[in-house]
Amino acid sequence: MSAKTKPRTPKKKKSEEKPRCGLCGKTKKLTKTECCGQWICDDEDKYVIFSYARNSCSRNHSRFTLCGYHHTEEHEGSWKDCPICRNGFETEMYVYYGTNEYNFEKLENPPAYLPTKCVKCGVIISLGYDGYSIKGGEYWCEECSNKEMEKLHTRKMP
Ligand SMILES: [Zn+2]
Ligand SMILES: [Zn+2]
Ligand SMILES: [Zn+2]
Ligand SMILES: [Zn+2]
Repeated sequence: MSAKTKPRTPKKKKSEEKPRCGLCGKTKKLTKTECCGQWICDDEDKYVIFSYARNSCSRNHSRFTLCGYHHTEEHEGSWKDCPICRNGFETEMYVYYGTNEYNFEKLENPPAYLPTKCVKCGVIISLGYDGYSIKGGEYWCEECSNKEMEKLHTRKMP
């Protein structure tokens, strides 16, 4: 008795294409993201504490995207239709975290939101990119915040 065995031809994986960081395209020193398994620069160690620099691909993805947040907070399902993520941020920040350049996949139908304006001078503040401060639930642009700070510092004590 000879058992018929189908000849298995192992599929050869083409490894011609080098893995690249999905954000900046570099091919050196890569790792895979914990949240979505994408190739990314293994550069977290480059980050200098308190420098607020955004030069680390892996840090940017884990800190400034819904994908990273969703994973860190251990939500279920996909971040794209996660109600906890959706309700966890102001719409503008939700859209920013879901569509900024640190994403591999962007939110397809980001919700609309009204622009945030400085309560003092009325300039539109882009919450993801501009500096601002919040006082009593109202947004102040960077310039007005600075002016206010100066006023406080120069105010004479009674
Ligand atoms: Zn990179
Ligand atoms: Zn991710
Ligand atoms: Zn989530
Ligand atoms: Zn202002």
